[in-house]
Amino acid sequence: WSDFAFRLEPNMLILIASAPIMVVFPLSIGVISFQLSRRLVRQREELEKISRIDGLSQLNNRRYWEESVYREFQRHKRSGSPLSLIMIDIDYFKQVNDKYGHVAGDQMIREISDLFAESVRHADVVGRYGGEEFGLLLPDTDLKGAQQFAERLRLGVQTLTIKPYGVRCTISLGVAEADSDIKKYRDLIERADKALYLAKRNGRNIVQAYETQ
Ligand code: GH3
Ligand code: MG
Ligand code: MG
Repeated sequence: WSDFAFRLEPNMLILIASAPIMVVFPLSIGVISFQLSRRLVRQREELEKISRIDGLSQLNNRRYWEESVYREFQRHKRSGSPLSLIMIDIDYFKQVNDKYGHVAGDQMIREISDLFAESVRHADVVGRYGGEEFGLLLPDTDLKGAQQFAERLRLGVQTLTIKPYGVRCTISLGVAEADSDIKKYRDLIERADKALYLAKRNGRNIVQAYETQ
């Protein structure tokens, strides 16, 4: 059989010798481009998150949240499904900062944000609207349902204690539901904001619904 080995054509030998390269080369190109595309996807996701998420609270930022209100309001107009919105403001928050410092204030904002994020349903959208103001968008929820949910949040915040400071605080909540009088998504935010203003005026730590006269 030794004769047979020497009878191999030179071309054949070249082919056999280059076989590993012919396999390894395209394979490594494939692996590298797969890894590159995975890294690109990860970076795109990270960028998308940075542009959407508020750094302190890890909630949606105001711009993204308002875009969601706009989108859901359009859907509500098309489908007629109920849509409610809650505006929230922490009570006497300046006193927390003054008495315990900004670090404690920031911690309070984070813990309250966590509570909101844990309490909502999948379709709901929570956003940090301003300093210590939050907006909650509740698709497929009527005013009664939104009021009940708001009350749960109010009680939840009341029982939070911020360690190690032992700080407690309360929130005021304004609730509104979209109806045919509302033409623009901003009108719905404005209604909830008016209700929130009433909640503050009526003593704070309460849920106030917007009432159409
Ligand atoms: P009210 O019950 O009327 O809401 O009283 P308030 O003291 O909460 O008044 P207001 O809502 O006007 O005050 C907001 C304060 O929240 C002002 C600012 O010092 C504080 N604040 C806003 N953003 C932040 C933040 O990111 N971190 C901290 N620590 N404080 C903030
Ligand atoms: Mg405020
Ligand atoms: Mg406040």
